[in-house]
Amino acid sequence: MTSANATIKAEGVAITQLRKSYGSNEVLKGIDLDVKPGEVVCLIGPSGSGKSTLLRCVNLLEKPNAGKIMVGGFEATDPEVNLDKMRESVGMVFQQFNLFPHLTVMQNCTVAQIKVAKRGKAEAEKIAQENLDRVGLGDFGSRYPDQLSGGQQQRVAIARALSMKPTLMLFDEPTSALDPETVGDVLAIMKKLAADGMTMLVVTHEMAFAKEVADRVVFMDGGVVVEEGVAAEVIGNPQQPRTQDFLRRVL
Ligand code: ADP
Ligand code: MG
Repeated sequence: MTSANATIKAEGVAITQLRKSYGSNEVLKGIDLDVKPGEVVCLIGPSGSGKSTLLRCVNLLEKPNAGKIMVGGFEATDPEVNLDKMRESVGMVFQQFNLFPHLTVMQNCTVAQIKVAKRGKAEAEKIAQENLDRVGLGDFGSRYPDQLSGGQQQRVAIARALSMKPTLMLFDEPTSALDPETVGDVLAIMKKLAADGMTMLVVTHEMAFAKEVADRVVFMDGGVVVEEGVAAEVIGNPQQPRTQDFLRRVL
């Protein structure tokens, strides 16, 4: 994973007073959250606390009701923002991989490069190949997603996101749908990516990963940030009763 290092131009995220409701259900109740360029922040919290909604607001898969989001050098909450350009700079990896089942691994990694980033096919394939090599799947370009294990599919999803040359990456429980034996491969790739200087906001229940790789951990509950700080501190010595309670249940 050395050849692609130079391609990372890290940008950060700055979220101020973010609010999001579905009908009368206010899911995000004024979130302030920063990820500095090159920083790795793990977002933890119980199911339903608003973690996915927060990530989806960051690249405008959901439209916030109030607040400001700066992401990848763009103001996502500016009504005039160039959505395509903004989304090019923000890579997202989902729990369920979301690969295109009718496209090969190579095609999965080139389609957005060609259609959105307007790269030529040869250039897109070269970049895709570098990123497939990077996730250890350089020989898998002609396979289809259903010919791969879950862990391999998630590594393709990471290669696909990296092929857009994002300035930061969002991960929403990237290992939660995987068989236990493939979780480690995916976490290892994320760890290398972090070491390469990628800005990463990661929703995860993998506390060992958070402790080892994250610069900071943010604990959310009920649509608010309850506690945040250095990973080892928040996980090892949480101050808030709700954080203590949550960690007691997951550790
Ligand atoms: P988490 O990722 O922390 O489990 P989510 O962000 O998925 O939490 O969900 C937070 C809350 O928002 C839940 O109560 C959920 O039911 C609600 N919610 C999420 N997405 C939608 C949606 N598209 N429409 C209505 N309610 C939603
Ligand atoms: Mg979620």
